[in-house]
Amino acid sequence: SIQPAERLQELPTQFFAKLVGKANAQVAQGHDVINLGQGNPDRPTPPHIVRALQQAAENPQYHRYPPFNGYMFLKEAVAKRYKEDFGVDLDPEKEVAILFGGKTGLVEISQCLLNPGDVCLVPDPGYPDYWSGVALSGARMAFMPLRESNNFLPDYSSLSMDDVNKAKLMFINYPNNPTAVSAPASFYEETIQFAAKHNIVVASDFAYGAIGFDGQKPISFLQIPGAKEVGVEFYTLSKTYNMAGWRVGFALGNAEVVRMINLIQDHYYCSLFGGIQVAAAEALTGPQDCVHELVSVYQSRRNALYSALDRIGWQANRSQGSFFTWLPVPKGYTSESLADRLLEEAKIVVAPGVGFGESGEGYVRLGLLTSEERLQEAVNRIAKLNLFG
Ligand code: PLP
Repeated sequence: SIQPAERLQELPTQFFAKLVGKANAQVAQGHDVINLGQGNPDRPTPPHIVRALQQAAENPQYHRYPPFNGYMFLKEAVAKRYKEDFGVDLDPEKEVAILFGGKTGLVEISQCLLNPGDVCLVPDPGYPDYWSGVALSGARMAFMPLRESNNFLPDYSSLSMDDVNKAKLMFINYPNNPTAVSAPASFYEETIQFAAKHNIVVASDFAYGAIGFDGQKPISFLQIPGAKEVGVEFYTLSKTYNMAGWRVGFALGNAEVVRMINLIQDHYYCSLFGGIQVAAAEALTGPQDCVHELVSVYQSRRNALYSALDRIGWQANRSQGSFFTWLPVPKGYTSESLADRLLEEAKIVVAPGVGFGESGEGYVRLGLLTSEERLQEAVNRIAKLNLFG
């Protein structure tokens, strides 16, 4: 029989595949399921971006292999956006790598930097794709618990010195999936000092960099002096422009890390389809009203959901960014037992916090990825379960 290589057996099981399976079974039985469990934007890509792809697809130039590591015009476009949005200067030639979505880079960076026996510091709870790259590199993860008492920021002083001394790479992610908090500049300053002192490369996952609530624009790690010396930021068009299916992301910052990521990509891929690169450049350099509109849609949904939850006595801190809400589970439940009950009795899918790591236990994640009416309907159904006695 055909046996997988050992490294494949190291890959974490996809917790959320189980969730999707349970939800699909309910849909197959004919139930009207409200899926708040996944992070898939529900709205379409703005039409001017789609038109840019249609036109570019007609151009035979893009039917050939694209240049290795992608077109310079797209690297220039993302550098221009970072300058305008964050005041950050990036050299498009040396400090920008084009990725198939942020996800590929988040997995590849571990393969670039980690040897067996090395440690990677990973937030808990956190986005599970960080685990996969570490597993494939044969290194070991040391979790950094994110606790509500510390505003869901890691406390570097509480980490084991043995782990810190062996660490070569660390992930941070604000606005955070799943806790939905944003980080202040002081946190990034502390991170840069910590990383420089212990010689650790920082991977800042800025997938939700455009989505901040109550007028608070998220801060980019690269805005902070010294950031480029210690790490890179992963940026993606998936959430900002409703382009999750297009698979466009970037690694930005430290030239040496960018060079390594490009090197790995050379071996796996050539680059994205040229037409997609043209459309991605249009997204970044064209009118940005679509981004403002997107933020205000999520803001209204967030406000509507929390007001409804307040009315049924489910109290939680307001999300500061991302398109998620992170809610403490009521007494008597685990995150999984609550998620199971919500699915079976209310036909609502939520993500149990434990799927993001042990420290996620005690919470469930609900996405703001459906209309205000459907969110309201979800809370009406939850109200009937009398979760709060
Ligand atoms: N990082 C976080 C925290 C995410 O939630 C996601 C997507 O869900 C990604 C990265 C990956 O995004 P993409 O590969 O679509 O760029």
